[in-house]
Amino acid sequence: GKGAAMVTAVAYRLLDQSRQIAQTLAEFCLSKDQLLEVKKRMRTEIQNGLGKKTHDTATVKMLPTFVRSTPDGSENGDFLALDLGGTNFRVLLVKIRSGKRRTVEMHNKIYAIPIEVMQGTGEELFDHIVHCISDFLDYMGMKNARLPLGFTFSFPCKQTRLDAGILVNWTKGFKATDCEGEDVVELLREGIKRKEEFDLDVVAVVNDTVGTMMTCAYEEPSCEVGLIAGTGSNACYMEEMRNIETVDGDQGRMCVNMEWGAFGDNGCLDDIRTQYDRAVDENSLNEGKQRFEKMVSGMYLGEIVRNILIDLTKRGFLFRGQISETLKTRGIFETKFLSQIESDRLALLQVRAILQQLGLDSTCDDSIIVKEVCGTVSRRAAQICGAGMAAVVDKIRENRGLDHLDITVGVDGTLYKLHPHFSRIMHQTVKELAPKCDVTFLLSEDGSGKGAALITAVGCRQREQEQQ
Ligand code: BGC
Ligand code: MG
Repeated sequence: GKGAAMVTAVAYRLLDQSRQIAQTLAEFCLSKDQLLEVKKRMRTEIQNGLGKKTHDTATVKMLPTFVRSTPDGSENGDFLALDLGGTNFRVLLVKIRSGKRRTVEMHNKIYAIPIEVMQGTGEELFDHIVHCISDFLDYMGMKNARLPLGFTFSFPCKQTRLDAGILVNWTKGFKATDCEGEDVVELLREGIKRKEEFDLDVVAVVNDTVGTMMTCAYEEPSCEVGLIAGTGSNACYMEEMRNIETVDGDQGRMCVNMEWGAFGDNGCLDDIRTQYDRAVDENSLNEGKQRFEKMVSGMYLGEIVRNILIDLTKRGFLFRGQISETLKTRGIFETKFLSQIESDRLALLQVRAILQQLGLDSTCDDSIIVKEVCGTVSRRAAQICGAGMAAVVDKIRENRGLDHLDITVGVDGTLYKLHPHFSRIMHQTVKELAPKCDVTFLLSEDGSGKGAALITAVGCRQREQEQQ
């Protein structure tokens, strides 16, 4: 009868709806062959970044860091460290003691950087940083100490020495004027001079990946790779000097800051990018830049999710077809919310509660779809991050002429630490795509602080040796 026909119509509509949603999400599902292709392309870009002739136009910059060895345990002294460019801005005091019982003691304070300072003038940004250092020194009662300082500055920097770094371009949420093309160590020193309150000896500018690698290497000498999966994404590793054509000398190794977030900026990932990735890019502060980072890091995963949800809502599959103001708000799905939504321990009712907290009214069906969208986006992120890492460890293996490589990767970042599935899927992918490597992932305990201090210690030692 009529009733049965209506039921059939509804059933067909639902069937068609779930087919269309599945089709949309299928674009994010990459086959093993596609992932191997990502690995291969990363390898090509690595080669371009290292090569003398190809470096200038390369997208993956492979920046030399002038860190030539991992720590040996003889590092000693009191150091200040700054950590700028992660989830929090912090000032730290790090006390490293060498000898039989090595110890590292840390004190730190978190400071907010208001968005108008992140996106104001460079002078305002560095005045703010110096103001925070001043507050910290007061707090610790150390205004007159003139300590050596390591500056963890988690952005791409062209280095010619350990203590000089020219900002190539801002990434993530930063956009302060008059900094790109400038040496950030000089900008910091000038800020300290303007304040006329205290003096510091800036010894090293450090990428967070390098700090992370060094921190893990302090405990585990086989750690020669650093990885950040957080607000942004990047990796570094110990490369053979002979392969780094942009630095003179053939002896030994140097840590290279890959800046792999820019992978794909030449279009080489366009075949796997979706309309949602393009939308996220178009709405970002740095359109066309950091395309890989925009597919893998915490700052953007939520934005990809949001763009998919908007589209599914427009097509009438979600939220009763109503696009709320909340859903139009950039940045609502922070890493911590994605992590909660995807937690397996969470009942759907709790997923709805989280969405409610964010200001989204959902039905039970909505919450199922939202969770599926989140899972699909974060899975792709973990997989292509793993593909990139597979390229790195295989390169190290080949560098050393080995059939098999055992290596440790030091990791940090909110996405890696908070997300319930990211790390597992990433590890699994590396295993599948680089079967000749045995990769151990070691969580770094505060790499940006401790690592900067360790590098500063090594820098001080190098300087003393040069002066002798
Ligand atoms: C920056 C890198 C940094 C990474 C992780 C990226 O946006 O370009 O220098 O290592 O974020 O913080
Ligand atoms: Mg950090």
